[in-house]
Amino acid sequence: MPTETIFSKIIRREIPSDIVYQDEQVTAFRDINPQAPVHILVVPNKLIPTANDVVPEDEPVLGHMFVVAARIAAQEGIAESGYRLLVNCNRDGGQEVYHLHLHILGGRRLGPMVMRQS
Ligand code: 5GP
Repeated sequence: MPTETIFSKIIRREIPSDIVYQDEQVTAFRDINPQAPVHILVVPNKLIPTANDVVPEDEPVLGHMFVVAARIAAQEGIAESGYRLLVNCNRDGGQEVYHLHLHILGGRRLGPMVMRQS
């Protein structure tokens, strides 16, 4: 069994968070340390630790995450100006919380997709 993270507690509403959307498959809440004016995380209610752990049965929930993300982008008023959907995987991807999540980032020009090497 994969180890639960803080996101499972958020999904079960055991700890406070700013949930903007929830249904039987996914939960979306504002990031505690926003990197843009709009920074919302869409997570599957089922614990999938990383993108490496995705299996064919997860296809419906992964598709639903994108549907919900598009709806939230419209609600937040960033659909037309644009936004970024991002999934980090493991160390080199910069993943901090091992419960798969889709970042929705928008509300400003986001700049290059990947930091240049120094
Ligand atoms: P990752 O680096 O894993 O892709 O992103 C994890 C994100 O989760 C970070 O942007 C971080 O700010 C956010 N985060 C971590 N802990 C909490 C929390 O307890 N509540 C909320 N709302 N966001 C969190």
